[in-house]
Amino acid sequence: MDFKQHITIVEDYPKEGIRFKDITTLMQNGPVYKAAIDEMAAFARDKQVDVIVGPEARGFVVGCPMAVALEVGFVPVRKAGKLPRDVISVDYGLEYGKDQLTIHADAIQKGQRVLITDDLLATGGTIEATINLVEQLGGIVVGIVFLIELGYLDGRQRLDKYDVYSLMTFQ
Ligand code: IMP
Repeated sequence: MDFKQHITIVEDYPKEGIRFKDITTLMQNGPVYKAAIDEMAAFARDKQVDVIVGPEARGFVVGCPMAVALEVGFVPVRKAGKLPRDVISVDYGLEYGKDQLTIHADAIQKGQRVLITDDLLATGGTIEATINLVEQLGGIVVGIVFLIELGYLDGRQRLDKYDVYSLMTFQ
C-alpha cells in the first residue's frame, strides 16, 4: 500500500521553512490505519516483545494499537508532572531549551524485551530519551518502530545500535 499518499504535508508549520508531516489524515482512514499497524506489527512479531513503550502523544497512536495487535502491554512515557505515581525521569534537549520525560518506576521489569514506538523520527532526541528511561529500568530495547522517518536528518545514525524500522521515509 502507498501509505505516503495518506500523509498531508503542511508547509511552514509550526514555523516558516518546516514541512510538517500530518499523520491525522492517515489515522482517520480506518482501513489504511489498520494496514499501517499490521505492517509495523509484522516487523515486531518475531521479536518476543514483552511490552511496548511510547512517548506522548503520538507514540501512543502507534504503540497502543500495536500492543493490542501483538497482545502485549503498553507503557506511556510522559512529560514531567503527568504520571500519578513514582517516576524516573530524563532531561533531553529541545531546539530551544530542555524538557523532561518520565516513566512509572515499576512499569518495566529488569530483562523485559521492549519495543519502542513513535510517529516520526527526526533528530532522534525524543527516542534517545525514551531509550534512556527503558534502560535505566533494566529493559532491553529489541526494536524501534516509526510511521515516518525523515531521511535527511541524522536520527537513524544516532540510533545505530538498535533495530530501527520505519514504514515510510521522506527524503
Ligand atoms: P526528534 O526528537 O527530533 O526525533 O523529533 C521527533 C518528535 O517530533 C516526534 O515525537 C514527533 O511527534 C515530532 N515531530 C517532528 N517533526 C514532525 C512532523 O513533521 N510531523 C509530526 N511530528 C513531528
